[in-house]
Amino acid sequence: MDNAAATRPFEEALETFQQVNRNYYYNTESIHPEGRRAGQLLEASRKQVLELLGLGGWGCVFTSGATESNNIAIQGVLKNKKQFGRTILVSEIEHPSVINVIEEMKNEGFDVKYIGTKQDGQIDLEDLEGKLDSDVVFASVMAVNNITGAVQPVSEIAEILKDYPKVHFHVDATQAIGKVDMDLDGADTLSLSAHKFHGLKGAGSLIVKREGILRPVMYGGGHESGIRSGTVNLGAVAAMAKALRIATENRGESYRRIARYNERVRDAVSALSSVRVQPGGVPHILNLSFEGAMGEVVVNALGARGIMVSTTSACASKLSVLNETLVAMDNTEAVVKGSIRISFSSFTTDEEADILIEALNGVHKQIGGVLK
Ligand code: PMP
Repeated sequence: MDNAAATRPFEEALETFQQVNRNYYYNTESIHPEGRRAGQLLEASRKQVLELLGLGGWGCVFTSGATESNNIAIQGVLKNKKQFGRTILVSEIEHPSVINVIEEMKNEGFDVKYIGTKQDGQIDLEDLEGKLDSDVVFASVMAVNNITGAVQPVSEIAEILKDYPKVHFHVDATQAIGKVDMDLDGADTLSLSAHKFHGLKGAGSLIVKREGILRPVMYGGGHESGIRSGTVNLGAVAAMAKALRIATENRGESYRRIARYNERVRDAVSALSSVRVQPGGVPHILNLSFEGAMGEVVVNALGARGIMVSTTSACASKLSVLNETLVAMDNTEAVVKGSIRISFSSFTTDEEADILIEALNGVHKQIGGVLK
């Protein structure tokens, strides 16, 4: 129940990884026949990823995952933007791999303005419009929030940004890809990580509308059109293409099934006192709070029953600060502190949803004394 942090790889993805490493372990840049065969597999994987995303004419830079993709998109684009303007707009609910990079850009002379959030977890488009001016060169808004599952209005943002052609629009689509059918072609760059859709860790992509807009942030032998030097992890890349194909083919069926689990958990906890459920979005992510308790206590109590969930997100759960997304949605401190994130995957079963509901009821009884 912690699939927003990492999913179990598809067996087919694991097999692909092994087969490629056994038979195509050559460097994709080597010009001997086997190197060329490896290079062809790399290009076939690239084509497949782009076609599955419905972005046939775009570029695709393979990376180690969304953190790296976000870093390349932000730093690599902004290197080319300084002479055109100095303002960056970013939603306040972005993942640390976006926020922390953008904060660092202040040291490079950029100004950062944060776009506000509505109580339903979507960014406030009026606030965005109010903050746009001729100095803005970059805007970053994720497709699906990793804490609440809120789906962001990417197409509407792209429409608004049409009046500001200088603005590069980056979308961190890590929690959307392979899970939800979203129109993302209004973005200029998109980030994704394979392990969020049953691929392997250590593989991801930066999808680029026009490749010329990026400068490298790391220099080396010139792999991946010079944007991401370093020998390509072909096994993980081919496994990612395979996982994306399976995830995309199953997407409709798993979305409907997972929506049922989400509904059932919402129904079950609605009867419990002091439990507050956040407005949702994609069915894969469900955030709820035991008001008065600490999220860690709930996570540990569920852990003792064999159920793995997170407090907010894996990347933030060891930090002591209150979760920014939940704070931005105007939640009280008790709600933020008592929150847990449940996240399903296409492997989740009806039976597991039953076990989760029973455990949530059990934990509620167990810690009832501290609840508000
Ligand atoms: N963006 C979002 C929205 C995420 O949920 C994650 C995964 N925690 C990332 C970026 C970073 O992905 P990775 O850890 O695979 O680099």
